[in-house]
Amino acid sequence: MTEAPTLDDKLQAFVGQSSGPPTKGHHPVNEPMIHHWVEAMGDHNPVYVDDEAARAAGFPGIIAPPTMLQAWIMRGLRASLQADADREAGTLTAEEPSDQVMELLNEAGFTSVVATNCDQHYERPLVPGDHLVVTSVIDSISGEKQTGLGLGHFITNRLEYRDQRGDLVATMKFRILKFKPGTGAKKPEPEAAARPLRPRPALTQDNSFFFEGAKQHKLLIQRCTACGTLRHPPRPSCANCRSFDWEPLEASGRGTIYSFVVNHYPQVPAFDYPLVVALVELEEGTRLIANVSGITPETAAIGTAVEVGFEDFDDELSLPVFHPADETRTN
Ligand code: ZN
Repeated sequence: MTEAPTLDDKLQAFVGQSSGPPTKGHHPVNEPMIHHWVEAMGDHNPVYVDDEAARAAGFPGIIAPPTMLQAWIMRGLRASLQADADREAGTLTAEEPSDQVMELLNEAGFTSVVATNCDQHYERPLVPGDHLVVTSVIDSISGEKQTGLGLGHFITNRLEYRDQRGDLVATMKFRILKFKPGTGAKKPEPEAAARPLRPRPALTQDNSFFFEGAKQHKLLIQRCTACGTLRHPPRPSCANCRSFDWEPLEASGRGTIYSFVVNHYPQVPAFDYPLVVALVELEEGTRLIANVSGITPETAAIGTAVEVGFEDFDDELSLPVFHPADETRTN
């Protein structure tokens, strides 16, 4: 009796296999590409661009930057797109061992991939005219590892770069991690960002009654005890008779939107945007500025009948928030 091969058994069977056909560079090593590279990388070593400097350094002439190695083999964007299209159309005939490894791992849930490291070893400097061919072999596949990203397998490919004579000029080991998304180290949940508190009103001897009233869910208006005139916002004396004597009157809470603005910017973290700020005219005749819930910038309209509700923002702050009068009262 034989046991069914495990995933590891299946994976290990690919080690040592060629991971793809030999690939020949589109172009031989050439000066224009070297110039573009050193400019892009900001590498000012003269041995890459100046024959004399290169000879003075003991080279036969200019050499290619060793780290350009992969550039001499790249297929180009068009070729990559074509390969993707072939794969999608199912016309990519021979499935390479490296593709089969990927498929095995995908099927087992290791669907994410990340490149982890790349080691290059150079046998000799490349010079213009060298024309490279690369072959690759699946060098190793690790057992299942727990990594920070998740449970996964490391796959190392070993690439050999040879010149037009077949001589080895460089090798590269390229390692990737195929992992199961969502199985990594749990990051500590960021503490629910505490919402900044609503800005505090600047309390004065004249206006604190209004905010104390709001805490008790009462909408209060100053009324002059001498002449009966109502006033808001709070102030020390009556504009009609100059009396300093006043008393609070509890408003009915009914009114209409006299005007409004929709605030988009600047955004203060304690508020939700877009923010409808209304000037509400109470049926008692005074006006106050307040937020209106239950309406949007699109539905806000001058003349809308509103009713007061109260919102307790925190232990210290309650404010009147109006809502359309026909809306079921929720607070
Ligand atoms: Zn008065």
